[in-house]
Amino acid sequence: MIVGVLKEIKVKENRVCMTPAGVTTMVAHGHEILVEKSAGVGSGFSDEEYVAAGATIIDTPQEICDKAEMVMHVKEPQPSEYGMLRKGQILFTYLHLAADEPQTKGLMESGATCIAYETVQKADRSLPLLTPMSEVAGRMAIQQGAKALESTNGGLGKLLGGVPGVEPAKVMVIGGGVVGVQAAKMACGLGAQVYLMDINLDRLRYLDDVMPANCTTLMSSKGTIQSMLPEMDLVVGAVLIPGAKAPSVITREDLKLMKKGAALVDVAIDQGGCFETSKATTHENPTYEVEGVVHYCVANIPGAVPATSTMALTNATLPYALELANKGWKKACQENEALKLGLNVHEGKLTFKAVCDAFGLEY
Ligand code: NAD
Repeated sequence: MIVGVLKEIKVKENRVCMTPAGVTTMVAHGHEILVEKSAGVGSGFSDEEYVAAGATIIDTPQEICDKAEMVMHVKEPQPSEYGMLRKGQILFTYLHLAADEPQTKGLMESGATCIAYETVQKADRSLPLLTPMSEVAGRMAIQQGAKALESTNGGLGKLLGGVPGVEPAKVMVIGGGVVGVQAAKMACGLGAQVYLMDINLDRLRYLDDVMPANCTTLMSSKGTIQSMLPEMDLVVGAVLIPGAKAPSVITREDLKLMKKGAALVDVAIDQGGCFETSKATTHENPTYEVEGVVHYCVANIPGAVPATSTMALTNATLPYALELANKGWKKACQENEALKLGLNVHEGKLTFKAVCDAFGLEY
């Protein structure tokens, strides 16, 4: 199959959907890979590396779309790209259609077969192409929280791990899923005293078995959170109720319980945020203060570390891309239930129930 690797054109997006190592694998299976000029530069891969791996460098996205049977991206296609896609062509990327009517219409009009990373789902309900970005965001949450605690950034001036003879910081992580576990692991590794909270008792039992000794697991409840807030230096919000707006686990009033200069990192901001005072920020201007508490609420945390995020994402996407290229979308989706759930648009029709529901269309 001829596979096109488009350069990301969304603002501040530096990831790329296939690495040179991915090209080597695809070429070994007999596929032809077209890479848009300088597509990998933001993630540290030169055009020369792609050529050495067996790809052909192409100057424009239009030329790639004209030739490729499958087109790949990281972020959703932008309006200038909708018209470049066509019937009979596969588009494989993040789409997030339910919140984006213009894109949904654009992709329906293109006639292309569009498979979304974010709805590929395994039988155990896990989302294999979303998980890697949660892993990155969870680890980054502690890195950013540590910075927010520095006095030069408005924080209370405390080092997460302390030093010999000085006690470490106390870190509360609310939500013990993918983000929460990675955040708690990072904070534990730095030597902080960590409290990891969830509402799922089975999950807490598992976490209690696998987490290090400086991590205490706790059942999450409003009362427990309020009783602990006066002691906490850093709080990470990592809750998710699939498909719903994030619940508010810390209110504006609760902030008065906290120390001046303590920090909140709301990773759940992409689902509306789990602190009442959260509002989305950017990497350029990531923090603000409410009631003396520093808030970090960046909605695309992995974007700050494209070299790592690209590797994490493509480790997960490559096997699915290879399956689509080897078998074609129809056979691949027939034989792989997880991939089948990724199908969102086909020849002008919406094929994913939640997206139909979002636009009041019949499934
Ligand atoms: P997940 O499903 O793996 O984990 C969520 C956990 O929250 C579950 O264990 C659930 O039991 C728990 N939970 C639900 N309600 C709770 C409550 N009231 N109190 C305590 N725990 C509660 O989800 P995840 O992959 O860890 O993602 C967490 C959030 O991070 C999501 O909103 C996701 O979209 C977001 N995220 C943001 C970024 C970013 O850049 N900002 C990147 C990746 C993921």
